[in-house]
Amino acid sequence: MEGKYITFYLYTKNNYSFIKFGFYPYNMRFINLHTHHISLDNSLFILNYRLGYDKVIDTIHSFSIGVHPWDIELNNDLFVSELEHFLTQSNCLAIGECGLDKLITIPLDIQKKVFEQHLQLAVKYHKPVIIHCVKAFDELIEICKPYVKQIPLIIHGFNKSETLAKQLIDKGFSLSLHHKLSSKTDFNIQSLPLDKLFFETDDNAQLLIKDVYQDFSFKLNIELDALKAQINRNFETLFL
Ligand SMILES: [Zn+2]
Repeated sequence: MEGKYITFYLYTKNNYSFIKFGFYPYNMRFINLHTHHISLDNSLFILNYRLGYDKVIDTIHSFSIGVHPWDIELNNDLFVSELEHFLTQSNCLAIGECGLDKLITIPLDIQKKVFEQHLQLAVKYHKPVIIHCVKAFDELIEICKPYVKQIPLIIHGFNKSETLAKQLIDKGFSLSLHHKLSSKTDFNIQSLPLDKLFFETDDNAQLLIKDVYQDFSFKLNIELDALKAQINRNFETLFL
């Protein structure tokens, strides 16, 4: 296998330690943690399905599935067994997106209940959880406390402050960054532990994951190959 040796980063709570010279094969793929579109660019993508909203659920690609908080009213009490049907399929890599959203009218108590059902399923099926969170981070941290050591919890589309990013990582979450963060001037991405990060294109069908990586590799001041290898390593740690 052709490749080269690069430096990987392993984060410890108070400092970085470096695992030097991991082998990196050249054919490693870009990983798109969260998208609503099938990619034709040879990336490894997790296609997200919104239960009750997406009409066709095709399990031939890697996918995640869950009840988006926006769709709670489109689902009935049977959603847990519907989800279980999908969670046992081999291409199901994660549960979600699910979570909390304070910008919608569905009462937060109901959202919390549905989200917690997802967390319980994630424990039962050993799946990472891809989380949607809008203006409810305190509540999210609270609900996730009993689960954070049991299952990987990844907040997708993260586009908030550096302080919040660090707080969430300290609480045990990983972050899939919104591509717009790469151009935010008041956000020092280099201060975040690389082993807690992912990238995604979400609902933007025009955006290519390789361009997202390119922008972040520039911002992080790290070679694109090294960044690819690091994200692959993160993926292996949480998903396989
Ligand atoms: Zn999404």
